[in-house]
Amino acid sequence: MTDVTPASAEAESLRGLLPGRVFLPGDPGYDEARTPWNTSAQLAPAAVVVPVSVAEVQAVVRTAVSAGLRIAPMSTGHAGALLAASDLSGTVLVRLSGFTGVTVDPEEKIGRVVGGTVWSEVAAAAALFGLAAPHGSAGNVGVVGFTLSGGVSFYGREYGLAVNRVRAVELVTADGIVQRVSSHENADLFWAIRGGNGNFGIVTAIELELLPHSDVYAGMLLWDLDRAPDVMRAWRDFTQNTPKSVTTSFRVMSFPPLPELPPFLAGRNIVVVDGAILETDDRASDLLAPLRALAPEVDTFGRIPAPALLGVHMDPLVPTPSVSDHCMLGELPDGAIDAFLARVGPGTNSGLMIAELRQLGGAFAERVPDGGAISSVDGAYALFAIAVAPTPEAAAYGAEAAAGLRSSLTPWSLPGSLLLTFTEHPVGGADAYGHAGERLADEAVRLDPLQVFTAGHGIR
Ligand SMILES: Cc1cc2nc3c(=O)[nH]c(=O)nc-3n(C[C@H](O)[C@H](O)[C@H](O)COP(=O)(O)OP(=O)(O)OC[C@H]3O[C@@H](n4cnc5c(N)ncnc54)[C@H](O)[C@@H]3O)c2cc1C
Repeated sequence: MTDVTPASAEAESLRGLLPGRVFLPGDPGYDEARTPWNTSAQLAPAAVVVPVSVAEVQAVVRTAVSAGLRIAPMSTGHAGALLAASDLSGTVLVRLSGFTGVTVDPEEKIGRVVGGTVWSEVAAAAALFGLAAPHGSAGNVGVVGFTLSGGVSFYGREYGLAVNRVRAVELVTADGIVQRVSSHENADLFWAIRGGNGNFGIVTAIELELLPHSDVYAGMLLWDLDRAPDVMRAWRDFTQNTPKSVTTSFRVMSFPPLPELPPFLAGRNIVVVDGAILETDDRASDLLAPLRALAPEVDTFGRIPAPALLGVHMDPLVPTPSVSDHCMLGELPDGAIDAFLARVGPGTNSGLMIAELRQLGGAFAERVPDGGAISSVDGAYALFAIAVAPTPEAAAYGAEAAAGLRSSLTPWSLPGSLLLTFTEHPVGGADAYGHAGERLADEAVRLDPLQVFTAGHGIR
């Protein structure tokens, strides 16, 4: 744990605000409350508060602002590494993890999601009405953090970034007021928050258009790492020939020999292709045929209830210390495949747990006319390289391995394009938001002149 300075007089002003849910340095519970999902990220805020209602969020904002403290909203802390890069000694960490809930309007196909809710809850609620949620690969990721930074789902080549499905947001801004923003209410802030995420306030609710799928053809194919050269080329060809209804990923994964892992994973280096195909069973089987022809050792593709898509990618179910790196690739020619496999292919010892390429393009790349600061992303593939980092030494080693893989792909990378949700090093301004960067910075000066809010990716 990072050493923290003793509780400041400013932070003391929060004491007593929320019974049993204000934690100052030195308090029992402070260490647990400040620890994000990514447990390798060390956060040392002036205080942690855990509001569970809109009124409590307002009280926290008003008290913090009048004490001269800044505010960092956080739901799960999946992106905790971003906040860890900031000095939080004058900042209150506002954890929304206890402030959750979902209601679904089946007529309008809209889900109303409370600020700290995770995707598994939304997927389950939507499924009651035969609908699906535009979630990512893991059910324990927060809806707000994912969606308002873009959000890449396995439905995405058909439907685009999750952020384009936001119909309204309610947030508590620096003046302590609840603002509702939509295309016809506070339209400038509605534009800005769809990409600007936690830079403008604490989101207490978000309304999302759900997807018309009660089930989905999805699953994974698994081979030993020895097969990586053939499988990766076949996957590249597959991604170049598939319709928008197909969204997949290719991964090289290395697992330690842990008894809690299933035998097909424990102590193994494997190659996995997974994702979703929004087609009939017959059409999906036809599309998968070139990959199945490579005789995968495990093949789970088939029709599953929509919420089960959250289990396909095998993401960790418990908080995990990790470091990562990311870049976008414009193409995946043989040279790029060779460079990728030279780092993580057969016979290597990469130090990475996961080297992943997500298939982009399709609707991910389509700009939405009434979209927000982020509405599309350029690039054919997104690299996400992850190492487990239980100690500072492991974190340094893993970060170097992840950066090494990224830099080996530089000749094919797309400068100026990033998935903010896969970027765990803080970026801001034009690097993060492209052309929208300048307008976002103007909005931030107008809406939060005192710079009360701190988010992982800043905008000025
Ligand atoms: C296992 C795993 C799988 C993932 N899979 C995918 C994937 O498939 N696709 C993808 O695009 N990304 C994926 N991600 C990345 C993930 O989307 C980002 O880390 C995202 O930021 C997490 O959001 P969160 O709310 O859970 O995290 P947090 O760290 O809690 O929040 C991240 C940021 O969001 C903002 N924020 C969160 N809640 C609020 C709120 N209520 N009000 C205001 N601001 C708020 C804050 O600025 C905060 O710094 C994955 C991450 C992990 C660890």
